[in-house]
This record gives sequence, structure tokens and C-alpha cells, in this order.
Amino acid sequence: MSKRALITGITGQDGSYLAEFLLARDYEVHGLVRRIALHDPERHLSRLVHIRDRLVLHAGSLESSASLHQVVDLVRPDECYHLAAHSFVNTSFEDDLPTLGADINGTHYLLAALNERAPACRFYFAGTSEMFGHADESPQRETSRFLPRSTYGINKLAGYHLTRNYRERFGMHASSGVLYNHESPRRGHEFVTRRIAAGVAQILAGRQERLALGNLDARRDWGHARDYVRAMWLMLQQETPDDYVVATGESHTVREFAQLAFAVAGLDHREHVFVDPELCRRAEDQPLVGDPRKARERLGWHHQVGFAQLVREMVTAECDALGLTLPLATPAAAQVVEQGEE
Ligand code: GDP
Repeated sequence: MSKRALITGITGQDGSYLAEFLLARDYEVHGLVRRIALHDPERHLSRLVHIRDRLVLHAGSLESSASLHQVVDLVRPDECYHLAAHSFVNTSFEDDLPTLGADINGTHYLLAALNERAPACRFYFAGTSEMFGHADESPQRETSRFLPRSTYGINKLAGYHLTRNYRERFGMHASSGVLYNHESPRRGHEFVTRRIAAGVAQILAGRQERLALGNLDARRDWGHARDYVRAMWLMLQQETPDDYVVATGESHTVREFAQLAFAVAGLDHREHVFVDPELCRRAEDQPLVGDPRKARERLGWHHQVGFAQLVREMVTAECDALGLTLPLATPAAAQVVEQGEE
């Protein structure tokens, strides 16, 4: 009999890749979505169009304990992937505070419902490198100190501790992944990688000349979302639950991303990118870079998509969407790609 998985946040980037991944392994895939998503699928289910008829979507709310009990009763999942959360690293701390309680309660309600109605269900919590925030060591590993600096990071850290408590107190098979930035053509438009990839396509199409960015020296440990959902699944296949850092272990600057993205389209980023002070965030902390050694040793996980391949895939997808053909490997692109390849 095929296993049943329940995914919260199935409409997002990670949710959609995870759903594909599980369907390919013969899972029966259920998703918890807001009622509005079912009423306005074009807008809310755009990442699931190609697999929509193979999924079972349930309208429900993480803010309602009763609704979670109902869905858990109905689905009786073998595995639950809790990916849903508000994410506003960009906005101000004060503005985000109202979302804090909602997300923490949602995680707690879900864990409680599973523990009560489906205690054998294996649980994955989507933690984030933002939990390290003002990290005092680099790269960060599972034992590094958590010093979150955003509402998002604090919220995720609470979820991480809730997950650990359900594991330790109730013996639930509950694990957290501490995931570093992971991107793809399905990334939200507000993130810098998607902004750059989309900007390159717009410029190539002659629809705009220039692209405004913030801090070009900011660094991130960027991986591909498709690789990261595989790590989530691997955590739930282990005999014992645990927490894992999931990262590539290498970081690149926003400038490097832009340089490569423009080069893929045969363009020179220096002719198009400018820094808009409005987009620059206040001084950023020590760059977050993860040490994925534990995931490699225990899960056998390693990222497969390197930086250059990620950039190429994102730019190509944006160009395809506009019906543009990328120039065949230009000398500039070849040179940058060589530098970017691990
Ligand atoms: P996150 O902040 O790690 O969740 O991801 P983002 O993609 O939003 O930002 C990654 C880094 O890119 C941050 O250090 C930003 O300061 C930097 N950055 C530079 N220019 C931009 C921009 O135009 N938009 C965004 N979102 N980030 C930018």
C-alpha cells in the first residue's frame, strides 16, 4: 500500500517540489491549503497546475486546532511535512510581530493533533538558517548557537524547539531541517535570485534597460530547492529522528549571481545593474554558510545542483516564459560558468 503524506505549505516553492518528489515515489499526497486557494486556483495553485489532479487538497487553517484534527483524522498520514509559515524577513520587526503567535500556534496545534490522532506519523519541520541570525561562528552546524534577528527566525526557532519537545517528551518521530537559502524558477518574485533572473529576461526582451538591486556584496549559501526537498524526505526515512543543517557549504555574493545570470544571456551586468539605496538592508551580519557534514554522513545527502547550474536554470526559465531564445554559450558566459562551477 502506498504511503500517505500530508504537506502544509504545498502551494509554495518547496511544497510543489516535495509533492512531485513524493508522487514519483508512489505516495498518496495530501495538502493543507487555505480555502481561498481552492476558490482561486489560478492565483494560488499556479505551482501545482501540472500535478493538481494527482493531489488531494484539503481546505483548512493552521490557526484552528479543530480543523487540523479533522484533516489529520481524515488523512491519517504516515509522514507530515510542515512547510507553511509567514515569511517576511524584509519587513520591519514591529510589523511582523502579529504573525509570530499565529505561526507558533499553528505548529503546536499540528504537532498536538498528530500526537493525539496519528502518533506513528513521522514529522518534518522546516527550520531555516535565519534561526542562526547573528551567528557567532561560520560555517554554522547543528550545534551552533541560535541568535535569530528577525521575526521569521524567532518564529522558526520556536517551531524547532516545539518539534524537539514532541520528539523527546512523546517519542514522536519528529525532525527539523535547518535549511539555507534554496532557489529555483518557482522562487517568490521578491527574492533577489528571482529578481535578477526575471530582470535579465526583461532586459534581453528589450522591455527594460536597467535592474535595481540592493547590497551587491551580500553573501548567501544558495542551493536548489529540488535538492533540499530530497533532504527533508531522507530525514523521515531514518530510524531515529534528528535535526540537520542542509546547505551547500559555499557562499556567493549577489554580484556573482548577477554577473553569471547576465553572462548566461550574453549580457554584461555592469551595463545594466545599479544599486538602489532603498533596496539596501541595514548592515548585515556575518554571512550565513552552512556545514552540511552531518546530513552528508548520516543521510547520504549532497546537493547535486551547483551554483552555475542553478543560475542558468533560473535565467533559462524566465527567458522561456517570455518566448526568448538564449544566445548559444557566449565566450563571456563560458568564462563565468567555468569560474562558477565547483
Ligand atoms: P533572504 O534575505 O536570505 O531571505 O533572501 P533574499 O533573496 O531576499 O536576499 C538575499 C540577499 O540579497 C540579502 O542579503 C539582500 O540584502 C541581498 N539583496 C541585494 N539586492 C537585493 C534585492 O534587490 N532584493 C532582495 N530581496 N535582496 C537583495
